[in-house]
Amino acid sequence: MKILVINAGSSSMKYQLIDMEDESVIAKGNCERIGAGGHFKHTTGDGRVYETDVVMNNHTEAFVQIKNALLSDEYGVIKNLDEVSAIGHRIVQGGALFSESVIVNEDVIKGIESLIPLAPLHNAAHVQGIRACLDVFGTEVPEVVVFDTAFHSTMPPKAFTYPVPYEYYEKYAVRRYGFHGTSHRYVSQRCAELMGKDIKDVKMITCHLGNGSSITAIKGGKVIDTSMGLTPLDGIMMGTRTGSLDPSVVTFIAEKEGFTPSEMDTLLNKKSGFLGISGVSSDDRDVTAAAESGNERAKLAIDILEYQILKYIGSYTAALGGVDAIVFTAGIGENQCSHRINVCDQLAYMGVKVDAELNAKATRGVEGKISTPDSTVDVFVIPTNEELVIARDTMALVQK
Ligand code: AMP
Repeated sequence: MKILVINAGSSSMKYQLIDMEDESVIAKGNCERIGAGGHFKHTTGDGRVYETDVVMNNHTEAFVQIKNALLSDEYGVIKNLDEVSAIGHRIVQGGALFSESVIVNEDVIKGIESLIPLAPLHNAAHVQGIRACLDVFGTEVPEVVVFDTAFHSTMPPKAFTYPVPYEYYEKYAVRRYGFHGTSHRYVSQRCAELMGKDIKDVKMITCHLGNGSSITAIKGGKVIDTSMGLTPLDGIMMGTRTGSLDPSVVTFIAEKEGFTPSEMDTLLNKKSGFLGISGVSSDDRDVTAAAESGNERAKLAIDILEYQILKYIGSYTAALGGVDAIVFTAGIGENQCSHRINVCDQLAYMGVKVDAELNAKATRGVEGKISTPDSTVDVFVIPTNEELVIARDTMALVQK
């Protein structure tokens, strides 16, 4: 069975075609700058690359590019569209409506649409993606939606309720939802496998550290708390996002600078975090390099990041009543070994010991344990694979 996985953004659309026989990626690619010119790149599992500037006015035109590439004589990987058994879509916000993946029908699309106010950029784009997919692939190919928020739906009210007047929860569903759920779910399951334990018996903290970052506390396979909130702005500092703040900082700056809510939204989401502190870049590699060559603000940005990761691990260890495993994943978690060791060295008080050599080797897609055999907590680097989770969920639902 071959499953097409789609991650539709407002101006981009990433895809992977996965052969579920061996879970290999047969082809993958990206449509960029949809609606503003257009650039298309398609790579096959055996290394053939097709890349071109091509106008894509909307998501339907982007899907036509994907379809043509998949079927192409030169760069194709299938002979007929019938070979695509199902399509799985990543959806950022499932709100309180969706606690698990579901097969798409008109009610599901309306449900995702109704959540647009909670994720204006993302959910609106996802709906465009689903509708475009129906246009190009037709209704015979089943489509499934997999929600970033779903894995976090086990959080108890004490973790997801914000202490603002309760009426806003009732009126607008203002609460913590959490994001990157598909990634936290994948690495937590893989972590239990690597430990050779039933996930029901493991307490773990999964650190998804990328351009967007979130940290999650998982007990017996169920999320009990996570750092992102109503939106992906909450939690630890990120590439361009603030993470958690005293809310008065927002009103103070807005009043001083005369910024509107929308201007504040841009400042908090696009101009803050690594970029805002360092003034160098939102990219961890650039900021780390600048810090190493003596840039004080870049060094401060790194110190803040490592300190915040440390604090989350400390507080989630308390929330879990102890921790058996810590997992690092995503661009920074999988590659920036200096942050991992700096954080873990400060966890020595709770018996965490990381092997410096194993830590240095775990980069660029290498999976493995980086803690020493006598560490009281197992520490892992696990490359995330959200597409595979989406493909597995899609297959499971269509086989039902
Ligand atoms: P992500 O959002 O998961 O793609 O992660 C992007 C972040 O990972 C950026 O801040 C990068 O600097 C960081 N990163 C560090 N090393 C690498 C690497 N070898 N490949 C990709 N991203 C990396």
